[in-house]
Amino acid sequence: MAAGWQDVLRDAAAVREAAAVAVDAALLAGVLMRTGEQPHASDVVNYAPFTLLPSPVPRALFEQAYAVQQDFNLLVDAISQNKEFLQQTLASTIKVDDFTARLFRIYMQVLEEGLAQTVFLGINRSDYMFDCGLEGRAALRQIEINTIAASFGGLTSHTTDVHRLVLKVLGKTEEASQLLPNNPAKGLALGIAKAWQLYGSQRAVVMFLVEEVQRNIFDQRCVENELWNRNIRVVRKRFRDVFEQGSLDASRRLYMDGQEVAVVYYREGYVPQVYNQQNWEARLLLERSRAVKCPDIATQLAGTKKVQQELSRPGMLEKLLPGHPEAIARIRATFAGLYSLDEGEEGDRIAAAAIADPDRFVLKPQREGGGNNLYGEELKEVLEKIKDSPERTSYILMDKIRPQPALNYLLRAHSPLQVSECISELGIFGVYVRQGQELVLNEAAGHLLRTKAVEHTDGGVAAGVAVLDTPYLL
Ligand code: ADP
Ligand code: MG
Repeated sequence: MAAGWQDVLRDAAAVREAAAVAVDAALLAGVLMRTGEQPHASDVVNYAPFTLLPSPVPRALFEQAYAVQQDFNLLVDAISQNKEFLQQTLASTIKVDDFTARLFRIYMQVLEEGLAQTVFLGINRSDYMFDCGLEGRAALRQIEINTIAASFGGLTSHTTDVHRLVLKVLGKTEEASQLLPNNPAKGLALGIAKAWQLYGSQRAVVMFLVEEVQRNIFDQRCVENELWNRNIRVVRKRFRDVFEQGSLDASRRLYMDGQEVAVVYYREGYVPQVYNQQNWEARLLLERSRAVKCPDIATQLAGTKKVQQELSRPGMLEKLLPGHPEAIARIRATFAGLYSLDEGEEGDRIAAAAIADPDRFVLKPQREGGGNNLYGEELKEVLEKIKDSPERTSYILMDKIRPQPALNYLLRAHSPLQVSECISELGIFGVYVRQGQELVLNEAAGHLLRTKAVEHTDGGVAAGVAVLDTPYLL
């Protein structure tokens, strides 16, 4: 297919016309973001950045990613209930990483008190790249799994329509008809609605815990509106609102100014910068409550990069998912090489290997949200500086994935229209609900394709690097 768009890419006039149609279609479809200049209001908005053309994705790998999603849901849920594993795995990390340590302290505190929460809701997104590898056969490789605030399920529910129209404008009607339907917003809302229902109070609301600056509000509104359509009330609150208005009753039901909260859906809370002392107190209050947290603090910890790295150790998946050999095989088949930098001989060896050949690896701290990883010369410099100090245990090392680039146009407001060499990252949304020990819902809820120019090593859509895309299966 890469060949399929070649004719289009060479025709400058056709590209210009299609880009104008594409931008208006995105605005009409609601593929929107608030602007950097006016992030606090919706008077002036713009389209969220996206590709002009859908990007090629190998069909077999796309299907593989969907087929393993329920397994990943099961795995994350199992980890979140395994105190011994989380304790052992994060022991070295929390000695040096203050943020993870503070999350971990809340985790231990709520366990000691005893959980009031009985219904559990997980919304995650497992992200992959397609590694071309040495033999030239592309392989699905997991980049990470996001267990908190996995975004763009809302906006991407509308990008397929935009790309379908663009292909038609470009004379590719047959190709347009092959784009797959995709509606993560609905899938996520179904999970939230199920958790709300099992919580069992008609009057209680769903609370979206949102950032101070909400540029990506429309993505969240897509999910909110699906809930309103089901006659479930939604409120949007920040940590500081929780600090000011939140309280627990004797059975630890959560109230915001007298209104009971059934589900807390975090779209915030994954970076250290948002937590001042008050916000930490607010977080603790939420975690102690009976409300369904999406995710609870254990599930947030299950999404750390240190956990991801430990999962790749021989025998670890078998311990976590006993009796699920097929799920384990499917999960393991997506792993890239992951390496611990814990103190000791194993860590010494891999640190030396990475310093000798930095382009083979990515160095990752325990952070989310893009722009934190280190590559190439910078990786080498940092590792040389910390290789003999305990600080290195706050990082993990990962094999660098090398996808096959494809040409595309990245449409961004106020940016010139120019062709770029691009690589894509596929995310699959997972949703599950557990009541006590019984998993009552476990599904893949749709996909997200994000594409960036090859010169950027890191960063997502919110970070201003990647743009929304639609897979075109080959
Ligand atoms: P974050 O939690 O910040 O999103 P990620 O692990 O997803 O962290 O890394 C951010 C970005 O860095 C990814 O979206 C991807 O573009 C790039 N990246 C991460 N890991 C690798 C890897 N192993 N090989 C190549 N690129 C990677
Ligand atoms: Mg990521």
